Amino acid sequence: MLTTQFGGNTPRRLSTSEATREGINMGPTVVVPPKHLMAPSDASEIAAALETARHHVEEPVSPITPPTPHETTVTDKYAFAFDIDGVLIRGGRPIPEAVQAMKMLNGENEYGIKIPYIFLTNGGGKTEAERCVQLSKQLELEVSPGQFICGHTPMREMAEKYNTVLVVGGEGEKCRHVAEGYGFKDVVTPGDIIKDNQDTTPFRKLTPEEYKNSRSRNFAETKIEAIFVFADSRDWASDQQIILDLLMSKGGYLGTRSENFNEGPPVFFSHNDVVWSASHDLTRIGMGALRVSLEAMFKAVTGKELKTTAFGKPQIGTFEFATRLLQRWRKETHRIDSPPDTVYFVGDTPESDIRGTNEYNEHAQNSWYSILVCTGVYQAGTKPRFQPRATVDTVLDAVKHGIEREYKKTLRASLVQTGVISE
Ligand SMILES: [Mg+2]
Repeated sequence: MLTTQFGGNTPRRLSTSEATREGINMGPTVVVPPKHLMAPSDASEIAAALETARHHVEEPVSPITPPTPHETTVTDKYAFAFDIDGVLIRGGRPIPEAVQAMKMLNGENEYGIKIPYIFLTNGGGKTEAERCVQLSKQLELEVSPGQFICGHTPMREMAEKYNTVLVVGGEGEKCRHVAEGYGFKDVVTPGDIIKDNQDTTPFRKLTPEEYKNSRSRNFAETKIEAIFVFADSRDWASDQQIILDLLMSKGGYLGTRSENFNEGPPVFFSHNDVVWSASHDLTRIGMGALRVSLEAMFKAVTGKELKTTAFGKPQIGTFEFATRLLQRWRKETHRIDSPPDTVYFVGDTPESDIRGTNEYNEHAQNSWYSILVCTGVYQAGTKPRFQPRATVDTVLDAVKHGIEREYKKTLRASLVQTGVISE
């Protein structure tokens, strides 16, 4: 048994059937399938401790440590990080091995240990809290919002910098709410712009519901300072028309045209995955494809290069945030102020998951080990563009691989220590 301690308040437990955005935003929360609500599940300890760590991740570490140690079987030596689409979920349904993989991490393994885990997803259009409720339902698993890092998580930090922003993508008003939840003060949607001038998009009319939800304002007097593509566009033609109008505008005022085409607002994408794994047998085009298309269109129309920025994997910021979170967790639960020695990252997309993990590993203070699965974008038998440390069939094999590798490392270390073998 390892001895550890927890700091801070114990997160509240909310049932998946009752969890609302407002409820979750009220403070540290763990989302629990109804059947586990009365008694903690095997996943409780990890979900609660990571939620607490997430709420403290930006605070300086307090020198005062709580006096009462708790007993735990959660290892501090290594952790897992998972991509979601194509690894745990495909087309809205769990990949069958995912449920077993989570059980194995929560103690159903031959060593009887628990292993901490987090989720790093490029899939957008939902808050970390909504993603958490969805995954909890899909996998019947107790999880906390603190365990989720989304592609658009770093956009939070831009809310201070820009006042009025255009937010693109996602269903209905969802992304406006995500952006407002991130602290953006004045959020405009393509619907607001079409409501103000329906000639903006000749082939798209708002539905009565869209018209009702869109907000009225005078765009002649509105300076749009930045464009954020939060989630996949539901109507490429009209969204691209509106983005292009702004990029070609004088300083972000709709209806104006710049003479040199370099006075428009900057445009940010929450990730850059060109394809993703949905319910169809073949991969589907995603946000990265919209980005490529927009850059090509800007060039065709203006003759100039368009510079855009993407967050999410494989960008380093996402991995740095994950490392800070795991370091905080380890400090609070095991009194060790450094991240776990190894993080096993399990993904299905070589261009974002594997590339990001490998590049981050080059300069990280701990080791990031990439594992590619064959249940999503990557197809078994083909050559991935970025080479993982290991390729396995499913997420369950990935978890077994990591646990086995750690066991062998420990065994080897003890044999060296006792002089049975030399280093
Ligand atoms: Mg994926």
